[in-house]
Formats: sequence, C-alpha cells, structure tokens
Amino acid sequence: MTGIEAVLTVDLGAIAANWRQLAAAGPVAGVVKADGYGLGTAPVGRALLAAGCRHFFVAHLSEGVALRAAIGAGPMIAVLNGFPPGADDGAGLVPVLNGLPDVAAWTAAARAAERALPAILHVDTGMARLGLDAGELERVAEDHGLLAGLDLRYVMTHLACADAPEHPLNADQARRFAAACARLPPAPRSFANSSGLFLGPDFASDLGRPGCALYGINPTPGRPNPMRQAVGLEAPILQVREIAAGTPVGYGASWTAPRPSRIATVAAGYADGYLRALSGRATGILAGRPVPLVGRVSMDLITFDVTDVPPPAPGDRIGLIGPGLTPDDLATAAGTIGYEILTSLGARYRREYRGA
Ligand SMILES: *Cc1c(COP(=O)(O)O)cnc(C)c1O
Repeated sequence: MTGIEAVLTVDLGAIAANWRQLAAAGPVAGVVKADGYGLGTAPVGRALLAAGCRHFFVAHLSEGVALRAAIGAGPMIAVLNGFPPGADDGAGLVPVLNGLPDVAAWTAAARAAERALPAILHVDTGMARLGLDAGELERVAEDHGLLAGLDLRYVMTHLACADAPEHPLNADQARRFAAACARLPPAPRSFANSSGLFLGPDFASDLGRPGCALYGINPTPGRPNPMRQAVGLEAPILQVREIAAGTPVGYGASWTAPRPSRIATVAAGYADGYLRALSGRATGILAGRPVPLVGRVSMDLITFDVTDVPPPAPGDRIGLIGPGLTPDDLATAAGTIGYEILTSLGARYRREYRGA
C-alpha cells in the first residue's frame, strides 16, 4: 500500500507572523485553548513564545499544566474556566475568577497563605455566560475589601458580537466595561478577542486576547482576511474507480453518477473532523484543480468526482485544506465557523510542523 496516511501541515511561521502582526498594534496574549485550536498546544505555545508572546490563555486547568511543561516558567498562563486554589500543583497558573464564589475561594486561600495571589477578574458585560453579573459587580464595587489578598493582574470581559462590527452590543459592552473598571480597584484591562482587535480604539486594552486570527481564521468576516493561512491538509487516494452512469456512490445513495464517471476514494472522514455536513458541498484540490466531493462523508472515507481532471493514481494526495481552500471555506460549506473546523481536526493525521 502506498501513501495511506493523511498529512496535516501546521505552519508555525505563519502563526508566529500572525501574532507579531497583531502585537505590532498593541499588547496581545496568545489564546491556545483546545489544544491550540486543534493545532497542538506545545508546538504552538513554543512558537508564540519565540515570537515574543508572554501571556497565554487556556480554557482548562489540564491545558494550562501541559502548556507550562512546554514553555517553562515565566510567562503568564491564565485559565479561563478557573480552577480551585492549589489545583495547579505548582504550575504557577493564574485563575480567571468568574463569579463571587471564585473570588471568595481565592481570597480565603490568600489569607491562609498570608500572601497575595495573582488572579484575573472577569466581568460579564453582555454574554450571560461567565463573569461577575451586575449584582456581583455592585457588591465588589461597594466593598473593595471583598478582593483583599488578590493581586489583580487584569480585569477582563469578553465580546459577544465582535465579528459583526455593526452590532450595537459591541458599543454597549465597551461602555459597560469602562464603567465597571472605573468602580473596581485600578488594574490593567484585557478586552478584545481577535475580531475585537479590528473594531477600533474603543476596544483597545492592556492585553488583547486573540485566538482564531493566530491560526489564520478571518477575524473580519466579509472583508479580505488580513491573516496568513496556517493549516494544510492532504489525504491520500486509496482507489480510483470507473463507474457507469446511474451508479450510486456512498451511504444513502445520496449521489448518483449522471454520466460515466471516475471516482477517487480518499482516506479521511468525519472521524477525522472532515464534517459529515460537508457531504455533497465541498471541493478538494487535485494537482491544482478543484474536484467536487460527491456522496456522503463516511467515518473514514470520502469520494471525489475526478472525471474532469487528468486521471490520478492510488497514493496521490487530494488537498482538503490548502491555498485557495481555507478552513473558513470549509466552514461555510458545512454551515459552521472556521473555529469548529480547526478544533475538530482529528488525531489520525500525521502532523508536520513547518517554520517557527
Ligand atoms: C476563545 C476566547 C478568546 C479568543 O477568541 P478568538 O475569537 O478566537 O480570538 C478570547 N477570550 C475568551 C474569554 C475566549 O473564550
């Protein structure tokens, strides 16, 4: 058997360049939650560190512990979902405090430790997901003693609609965040995600938190993508078959050849994050030419109509993500967002890391 592995290529040079581009406009962290948006916590973390990044955000405690092992002591690693005092086992992670119960737990830990403990205070300004709600903010604003023992590294909030610049909630959130910060003890602020960094001066802060833009997802939907693409995916053709007009292809016989056709069967499927919703809606690239995906996406296999291109051979690779075929393009075809395409990328690919 030849060429039976699919290859995921991650361009660490592009990720580093994307971070530097955003950092040139103001201080930014690197958001590397969910295994670096599916591209690998350790290689992505080290590439960002080498580019100059000194502040990192993950979602889970375990992601923070893994990142610390990869990048060493020094840089701030904040855990968005928070964690109980002591649970980081000496990894030196900074909790994001998402409500008064979190604040109470960490101030109690600071009292017990008889020293200030670093923390980030999250204020909800319009998502109703995590962060101090209006009532909790009021209590802390009235009594700063509730934060005693905390070394507030940042006060943060998160935008709900940053990818829709005209949405009125953006300006509301900027106003509410400024008002909240004015009532809290003075601390640096952390505000915009990737798209928020493109919304203008009202959304600038002491630490932006870009994620998706680092990985080449367009932070300005509907406008040209200012970021460099960081991911390529190629999967091998297992077989090429000639079928007669009227022959159905794949589960559910959802596609039937309208003419004598040549079908390439390729080793990737929804178990690899090539979403089943792409069935009949995506294209691949074969020797520089687009070829339509036909039939359903199976767990481990997909089929392309290669009738109109020079006949390929088993072992040839079809590009599933690449130049001119971005994660955002796949997302549009699947009815989702580029974030979900990246974070769904499977574990069965051989991963090749380029540049740094
Ligand atoms: C995921 C996340 C980010 C990064 O968002 P992008 O849209 O990927 O830039 C920033 N802040 C918080 C709180 C997040 O959850």
